[in-house]
Amino acid sequence: MVEYKGKTIAKGVAVGRIFFYSKEKGQVRRRSVNDISAEKQRFESAKSEALRQLGEIYEKALKEVGEENAAIFEVHQMFLEGDEFNESVISIIETEKVNAEYAVAKTGDNLADMFASMDDDYFKARAADMKDISERVINALTGSESTNAPTEPVILIAEDLAPSETVQMDKANLLSFVTRLGSSNSHTAILARNMDIPAIIGIDIDKAWHGKQAIVDGNKGLLITDPDPDTLADYEIKLKKQAEEKELLKALKGKEDVTLDGKHIKLYANIGGVGDVADVLKNDAKGIGLFRSEFLYLESEDFPTEEQQFEAYKKVAQLMAGKKVIIRTLDIGADKQVDYFGLEKEDNPALGYRAIRICLDRPEIFRTQLRALLRASAFGNIAIMYPMIISEAEVIKIKEISASVKEELKSEKIPFNESIEEGIMIETPAAAIISDKLARLVDFFSIGTNDLTQYTLAVDRQNAKLEAIADTHHEAVLRLIELVCKNAHAAGIWAGICGELGSDTSLTQRFMEMGVDELSVSASRILPVRQKIRSSKTKP
Ligand code: PEP
Ligand code: MG
Repeated sequence: MVEYKGKTIAKGVAVGRIFFYSKEKGQVRRRSVNDISAEKQRFESAKSEALRQLGEIYEKALKEVGEENAAIFEVHQMFLEGDEFNESVISIIETEKVNAEYAVAKTGDNLADMFASMDDDYFKARAADMKDISERVINALTGSESTNAPTEPVILIAEDLAPSETVQMDKANLLSFVTRLGSSNSHTAILARNMDIPAIIGIDIDKAWHGKQAIVDGNKGLLITDPDPDTLADYEIKLKKQAEEKELLKALKGKEDVTLDGKHIKLYANIGGVGDVADVLKNDAKGIGLFRSEFLYLESEDFPTEEQQFEAYKKVAQLMAGKKVIIRTLDIGADKQVDYFGLEKEDNPALGYRAIRICLDRPEIFRTQLRALLRASAFGNIAIMYPMIISEAEVIKIKEISASVKEELKSEKIPFNESIEEGIMIETPAAAIISDKLARLVDFFSIGTNDLTQYTLAVDRQNAKLEAIADTHHEAVLRLIELVCKNAHAAGIWAGICGELGSDTSLTQRFMEMGVDELSVSASRILPVRQKIRSSKTKP
């Protein structure tokens, strides 16, 4: 038995035989040609054939992995029809007087190198797409079928996989895939996650493994070849559990989030960016209860512009097609540090300059985000929520700024939802205790139990040594949640939980008794929580 460690790109466990997938790339030879126009004609007809194939693949992908993921094959078609690709191929044929295969291969390599040298990870990953496109045209030119494909369920290992290869394979024959190359940003990785099969990259694969028994543990990024009987038995159990869970979850899709005594709960999902929306939809969440917008800031090297933020918020709102999308304003500071903010080092950063405190202190940053959020509200059902509140004064100040940004947009005749809901996070004991007063100022409460627990118990959530006393079920925290719900309802607003505790199904019954109206959890927890809600009551 040998274990190989790679990088997870899609979670889950698979057990099966290894299938070595080789592209058997024929060497493209450079040939001089005399009849240039015949060569250009060969290129044109190979291109038409490649476009036809891409059209078929697009239709297949559309059915199997949805529009968003299928879109890459439209992008391939666009590239293939684009000036950059065509002008380069034609110019190489004309100036070098060479065969079309060579001109296409050289163009593909040049464009792939150009993408690979870019700083942006997204564009880097497009190098593989360029190679995929040129290989398709070359195959059409040579009339060769270049790949072998499994005919029974296997763990597929390959140097690299192009998105078109992944999608063309019969899903029923794909238990998992493991590659040496690839990136977690690549479309192949996205497709694997969507197909819901475990996948790992960064493993030095060996052709000699073909036919060997193996285990892929996508949760740990492990490939285990020739597992010993005990390990195999362990993983067979994990596999069975995984299959049972999936079945259970499937049956709950499309069902309502309603308690036994008829209370409808808003069961929403937490996301960190646009890329997470596919999982939200796949798991049938009824909305997004927490979009941690600071990830947009963490991912960039400078302040994201109003336009960049607008595009991200708009995209999420559009993908959610009318379902609620609650976007939290910037929560930077404490454990989420961003160099370009130039924040000073603090002795107690969790008790320091973070979240709304920074936004109120540096209104230019806050106003930019509010403009982007409000503009995006014209494209879907967006709500805004503000983190780390401790006082009424803060909320009043936020509302003044928000009102002034709305006025500004009106004067610029920029559309936005004038009755957009604005809520606050309750994640400090102070906010929970004065939630009766705060409730009069806002449209909803969302309880951030991660911070509420840290501040109530005085237990640093980052400190691993305190794991044992970080009691997430501490009665003090639960009583504060109950108080917040009571005060919210007295003022006629709703209250939800968006911290990790919301997905703790051992507490769902208790939350229902407290009157919690919304639970926002990670996408993979939607269906287990739905199951629990449906077997709970609002009374003991
Ligand atoms: C929380 O504190 O519970 C919360 C949801 O916010 P974050 O985890 O991002 O601090
Ligand atoms: Mg928090």
